[in-house]
Amino acid sequence: MPRWPYMEVHAVDHCNLNCAACSHFCPLAPKKFCSPEGLARDCNELGKKISLRRFRILGGEPLLHPQISQLIAVARQGLPEVHLGLCTNGILLPRMGEEFWRTCRENSCSIEISFYPPLHENCKRCEELAHFHHVPLSFDHGRVRDGFARVLDPLGRSSPRIISRRCYNAGCALLREGRIYRCPTAYCMVWYNAKFGQNIPQDPGLDLYANPGRRLVAHLRRPCATCRHCTIALDLHPWAPSTGKAEEWIAAWHRNRDPEDQTPQIRPGGQGSGAGHVPFANSPSPECRGADGWER
Ligand code: SF4
Ligand code: SF4
Repeated sequence: MPRWPYMEVHAVDHCNLNCAACSHFCPLAPKKFCSPEGLARDCNELGKKISLRRFRILGGEPLLHPQISQLIAVARQGLPEVHLGLCTNGILLPRMGEEFWRTCRENSCSIEISFYPPLHENCKRCEELAHFHHVPLSFDHGRVRDGFARVLDPLGRSSPRIISRRCYNAGCALLREGRIYRCPTAYCMVWYNAKFGQNIPQDPGLDLYANPGRRLVAHLRRPCATCRHCTIALDLHPWAPSTGKAEEWIAAWHRNRDPEDQTPQIRPGGQGSGAGHVPFANSPSPECRGADGWER
């Protein structure tokens, strides 16, 4: 069976925190809830086609889903061998009931928290709760994530092959309603386009049911249509609430650039052209292969 290191699913698309430059574009997302029946079908199919190492339920804020325990249970049923995690900003964790904690424990689902500066005080309480309920808890991005990266170039002047291998989402596939996508940014761009009248291309995804595992993995390895609009010359900036403006997502290097300047953002073998290139290492970056017409 073909292998892939990591995949994630949105329990909900919206969030109870409003972070500027959220890479899943959640401040722009409509309210949408993942159906437990649909996730059960998808995970069963996924488990038959791809050998996954890690699977995470996130969002948006997954604890906003009223059936979050069911989502955890069906994900575990379909993917019995994966390292299963739930990634939350922690706001609602102190309000979760016994059923939630029991489901996490019985399904070996760990809690991973992305803490943002407004939630510092929640850290200790969440650790105590997880310890009390015997559920492993870890912190994503270190104990507190206090910065975000703006990565978007609306004019699409990046080299897809190079960007997609080094980007912060490399190897970070998304499962959504029976289709798989190269990364969440490539799917969630739909909300950015809708809100700001843009036409940035999206990864059309691949039908999980109509394709063999080998072809699904090949799709995840290839750069997608959105990659040309990302950059690894990261523009890191401190956490701030979103004001809902398009510029929040656009990298400074591109914001300040002459629109006529078509110089590629990086050259093969080079690092990011701007200051602040950060080699993200949250997931292995698969080789990009395939004759798909993208610049190599
Ligand atoms: S908490 Fe996470 S999902 Fe929610 S807006 Fe912030 S970055 Fe996005
Ligand atoms: S669209 Fe491509 S370059 Fe951008 S985050 Fe996704 S995989 Fe990386």
